[in-house]
Amino acid sequence: MIQKKRIAIFGSTGSIGTQALEVIAAHPDKFSVEVLTAHTNDELLIKQSLQFNPNMVVIGDEKKYQKVKEALAKTDVKVFAGEDSLEEVAAMDCYDIMIAAIVGFAGLKSTLSAIENGKTIALANKETLVVAGDIVMRKAAEKNAQIIPVDSEHSAIFQCLTGESRNKIEKIILTASGGPFLGKKPNFLVNVKRDHALQHPNWTMGAKITIDSATLMNKGLEMIEAKWLFNLRPDQIQVIIHSQSIIHSMVQFEDGSMKAQMGLPDMKLPIQYALAYPQRIQSKFPRYDFKKPNTLNFEEPDVKTFRNLTLATDALNKGGNMPCILNAANEIAVFAFLRNRIGFLDITEMVERTMNKISFIASPTLEEYFESDGEARNFAATLIQM
Ligand code: NAD
Ligand code: MG
Repeated sequence: MIQKKRIAIFGSTGSIGTQALEVIAAHPDKFSVEVLTAHTNDELLIKQSLQFNPNMVVIGDEKKYQKVKEALAKTDVKVFAGEDSLEEVAAMDCYDIMIAAIVGFAGLKSTLSAIENGKTIALANKETLVVAGDIVMRKAAEKNAQIIPVDSEHSAIFQCLTGESRNKIEKIILTASGGPFLGKKPNFLVNVKRDHALQHPNWTMGAKITIDSATLMNKGLEMIEAKWLFNLRPDQIQVIIHSQSIIHSMVQFEDGSMKAQMGLPDMKLPIQYALAYPQRIQSKFPRYDFKKPNTLNFEEPDVKTFRNLTLATDALNKGGNMPCILNAANEIAVFAFLRNRIGFLDITEMVERTMNKISFIASPTLEEYFESDGEARNFAATLIQM
């Protein structure tokens, strides 16, 4: 009998987390759930625990510990609470693969703890690589911890690169849907409200990444993520708008040949690929049908309107702690936008001003990344009162 892969889902109550559980539920012979974690959604964490019977769970919000503990009293599930528990549980022996599906900088520590312990990481949390990609990749190599991307573009590139380890990459082409405001100009964007920005045309995702997709910051973060995952120079990373989200990204090799990975937009596919890797396993996901009328379009991104892409390119080129600063300011700005505290275009403004304000460090230590993150958050927060 083939041994089941033991899975830990950090951020199990989110969009990626719940889809990962759907994938696992469809393949009970291949995967078992050992760890689930949630920040505040105790109800869903309890429901998931009763269904999947993990070894342990973590609820971030300590006030909810008692409720989760009581609800799981009749089970063998061990319950932990608080931020520090995430790191501790990430270090435990009870699982093989971590699905890193916490959103934002908050996912960094537990992912590093898993890497430190040689776990395989199915990485959804792109901010981890944006903030401290050099340290994360170095540590992963040192500890023999494999990082398999879950982000659909990076999964696509990873799939295109399978069997190509000896061949030189000329460039990669990251596709972007363009989000709900594709083709819009600043005079329209200035009045955009949260509910409109939360309506993504092709993907249903958590709130933060949905806003990042609308501002194109998501693609900026993905350029930085790609640099670290595939060891690329900034000039080897190109972004192209492809509004149908059928080609998930492409690689062009030095002979000029291009490989693309295609399919209907469905995050369960890259999640399943990462969990089953290096195998492909059967799925019942809907298939793309070439017999139906269809067109695939490609166009240059409008970087004059969606300036976040320019800011992220600047951060990518500059390196050091600049991507960390960009990310921290963006997290604060998106959070403020979601609370109707600032306008859509203010997001870019806040990120730019924070990048200009915080001291640049060319080769930061992990502590310095944490400091830069804190400083950038504090400064960005002062801009909300503008
Ligand atoms: P989400 O908001 O739906 O879920 C986030 C999860 O993280 C939840 O389980 C929540 O409990 C947990 N969490 C939130 N804040 C936390 C904190 N401070 N400490 C500990 N846990 C915390 O987000 P999502 O859309 O599932 O995205 C998760 C990550 O995956 C993000 O980094 C995102 O960029 C990336 N990603 C998501 C998608 C997608 O389709 N949703 C696609 C590609 C990449
Ligand atoms: Mg993506």
